[in-house]
Amino acid sequence: MRDNLSVVISAYNEEDNVRELYRRVKRAVEESGLDSAEIIFVDDGSSDSTFLLCRELQTEDPAVKIVRLTRNVGHEIAMRAGLDNADADGVLFMDADLQHPPELIPNMVRLWKDGYDIVLTRRTDNKEETYFHGACSRVFYRVLNFLSDVEIPQSMPDFRLLDRKYADWLKGFNERDSLFRGTLSMVAALNRNNVATLDFVADRRNAGESKYGFRKYLHLALSGILQFSVRPLHFSLWLSVVFGILACGLGLYVIVEYFVLKQPTPGYATIVTTVVFMGSMNLFVLAIVGTYIGKIHQETKKRPLYFADVFPGKRERDGKNNQR
Ligand code: UDP
Ligand code: MG
Repeated sequence: MRDNLSVVISAYNEEDNVRELYRRVKRAVEESGLDSAEIIFVDDGSSDSTFLLCRELQTEDPAVKIVRLTRNVGHEIAMRAGLDNADADGVLFMDADLQHPPELIPNMVRLWKDGYDIVLTRRTDNKEETYFHGACSRVFYRVLNFLSDVEIPQSMPDFRLLDRKYADWLKGFNERDSLFRGTLSMVAALNRNNVATLDFVADRRNAGESKYGFRKYLHLALSGILQFSVRPLHFSLWLSVVFGILACGLGLYVIVEYFVLKQPTPGYATIVTTVVFMGSMNLFVLAIVGTYIGKIHQETKKRPLYFADVFPGKRERDGKNNQR
């Protein structure tokens, strides 16, 4: 059944956007041919009148749901709070600043109804993005994708629609330091055949300013890398190999100097060789410790072990039908 939809919107100090956003989203879901749709505003601890405006909308339209967070926890966790409160057959995520055009919703719903379980969007252009911001973003995604086991594309925002079964699977990720975009990419990677992608151009913000300053982005970048990769922990292993080879080379050189050339360099050569060798040993032990920490890091996340589609046998299906 794909007849109802939850639209999850996280909003932090978006008082100038809430009404316009609601108007456009409402019109878009009405055009989507759904039986019903709830619009979930997650107020991420706003200090302006975002919450009051949402309450006003709720008195006019019972399809509006509000999840009010007591403090600003960030876009990532706010969307998770929205997901936890979404009941419909499909869950659509979007930003509150109208950079994600609500007019795309009917097409997303159509693809979902056609059988795609995940409908992603690809930003072909971002009118809001400055050159500096774009460059930082490119560097971040390069580093992240180099280190990470999952491909997290730069131009794929959180504007996407997930079928219920994938939305439920996503709830299995209970990480405190979460990069929602990354976990969503993991979901999309589960079954590429069931993923559809729509292109769009991200408009300028309707009103207000971006809530993501350089510091917030840096924090997001670091937690994204730490969340999706334990590879930095392996660096000491590679360093130990490099220094180990260097120490062996130096040792060999000292031996050849002493026994073959009979012209030993006085003093420093043996000391340098010993220091490099000990450094290499230190790094090697650190690499072993790092490997264990990496395992703990992964285990503490308690991520879902698998995702499976279950096709019931004929007898079970008939049994269920009889019960109805
Ligand atoms: N947002 C949020 N909590 C925050 C920061 C942002 O819920 O702490 C929301 C914000 O209201 C918007 C979305 O996340 O709906 C994206 O934020 P923004 O537009 O500031 O980021 P940008 O598009 O510049 O990356
Ligand atoms: Mg924005």
